[in-house]
Amino acid sequence: MKPTTNIDIQKIREDFPVLHQKVYNKKLVYFDNGATTQKPQSVIDKINELHSFTNSSIHRGVHYLSGLMTEEYEAAREKVRSFINAKEKSEIIFSSGTTASINMIAFSFGEKYISEGDEIIISEMEHHSNIVPWQLLCERKKAVLKIIPFDENGELIISEFKKLISDKTKLISVTHTSNTLGTVNPVKEIINIAHKINIPVLLDGAQAIQHEKIDVQELDVDFYVFSGHKIYGPTGTGILYGKQKWLEEMPPWQGGGDMVDKVSFTKTTFNSLPFKFEAGTPNYIGAIGLAKALDYVENIGVEKIKSYEKELLNYSTRELNKIDGLKILGHSKDKISVQSFIIESIHPYDMGMILDKLGVAVRTGSHCAQPVMDHFGIDGSLRASMVFYNSFEEIDILIDGIKKAQSMLK
Ligand code: PLP
Repeated sequence: MKPTTNIDIQKIREDFPVLHQKVYNKKLVYFDNGATTQKPQSVIDKINELHSFTNSSIHRGVHYLSGLMTEEYEAAREKVRSFINAKEKSEIIFSSGTTASINMIAFSFGEKYISEGDEIIISEMEHHSNIVPWQLLCERKKAVLKIIPFDENGELIISEFKKLISDKTKLISVTHTSNTLGTVNPVKEIINIAHKINIPVLLDGAQAIQHEKIDVQELDVDFYVFSGHKIYGPTGTGILYGKQKWLEEMPPWQGGGDMVDKVSFTKTTFNSLPFKFEAGTPNYIGAIGLAKALDYVENIGVEKIKSYEKELLNYSTRELNKIDGLKILGHSKDKISVQSFIIESIHPYDMGMILDKLGVAVRTGSHCAQPVMDHFGIDGSLRASMVFYNSFEEIDILIDGIKKAQSMLK
């Protein structure tokens, strides 16, 4: 029996043109949403409209179109502010994605606050983009990177985290939600522990923002980052939220147009927030497209999305567990609708190839989280990541596909 749902899935699917196609003459079943999500027609139309009628570089023009684009771009910033409940619009920096946002903080925060011997704490379940920027920073500054381990359920071991903190700890940067294990980390607890000793916390929200309500003031988080393309917005867009007090103190990370106040060969002064961190012509059409995607999500309702995706998670867990030799990686109490799994005697790539030919798009490999694979002693897994436009019937197609592939590969 399939669970009942409070979401009109057929109506929602009509909004996503990509979903209505066949691949290899099979109905497309798209379960690679952790990598990127599909775009609703409203986002596609908005981007088309802007390119067709209003395109003009923002902030610098006195003419009509430039004014119009500037207004829409700044309205998009306000939309993001309200979506994550930031206190100030100036705390919202547009970037090209999570990776860019983390690198920006690693460079800028690192430049100002990290010195030789200082320590930064991340976790064992990070995406590479929340590992490598810190490794590069530690190499530049001769600082030390410390790692919070996770347990057999894929949950961070908080007692170990506490042991890692020292008077040299300068920043904690952890993922809100794991892209591989699906774990929703106890970020409020982590922030409370860190703030008791005045250590700032950065949360990588790349896999959280599309699944649950984020309130940065309630979390009291210092930095929160995410990508637009993972929340039904355009690629090449992203957000860096930072508390004003940090952003004010941090130096710019890239120099160029728009981020300056006055430029001369003797002295250059910088623009105010948020422009200090937005050098060059930004992806303003993308940013406006992202705001449109947030409208779309809000219209459905974040809580509704969360509860439906929980049903998808529960149903897929039950059905995947019935398959002989299949092992799900990650059994945290609080988990998003992401299933990573391995199947006895079958290489994930071979399984992924067969599923593809059956029209089912899953991800195979390390999911840019090689330390997670190392934890399990494997070099890769399959990953089916589900969102609100996926259905229980699609999960059935995945399950049938796995069984079919199993019989072919055994
Ligand atoms: N962090 C997590 C948890 C992710 O899942 C991803 C992408 O999969 C990223 C960071 C990087 O995001 P992007 O490639 O959009 O910068």
